[in-house]
Amino acid sequence: MVRDAVVALFGELVPPDPETGCRYSCRACYFLSHGQEEMVLHVEEVHQPQDPVTCPYCKKSYKNKESLAVHISLKHRELHAKVNKKAQQQSNLFHN
Ligand SMILES: [Zn+2]
Ligand SMILES: [Zn+2]
Repeated sequence: MVRDAVVALFGELVPPDPETGCRYSCRACYFLSHGQEEMVLHVEEVHQPQDPVTCPYCKKSYKNKESLAVHISLKHRELHAKVNKKAQQQSNLFHN
């Protein structure tokens, strides 16, 4: 995710904490950080915003590519192999 988007989504500029000097607060969990850099690291580590992905076979949506890959290998393994084979054949045709 783009840094600025992360900051815009999660970062909230707050009055500096007198003890720690933290100026950013996370909207999702109230984590306090000193600056944008720390904010982005926190969000990437803790909240990991990722674009949801949709299964091309049954249109279920998954929170990331890894879960989708697991789902496909469990539920659509044969179909997926077939489609890949077909795509390969088509690209062979194209190259010839
Ligand atoms: Zn947070
Ligand atoms: Zn599916």
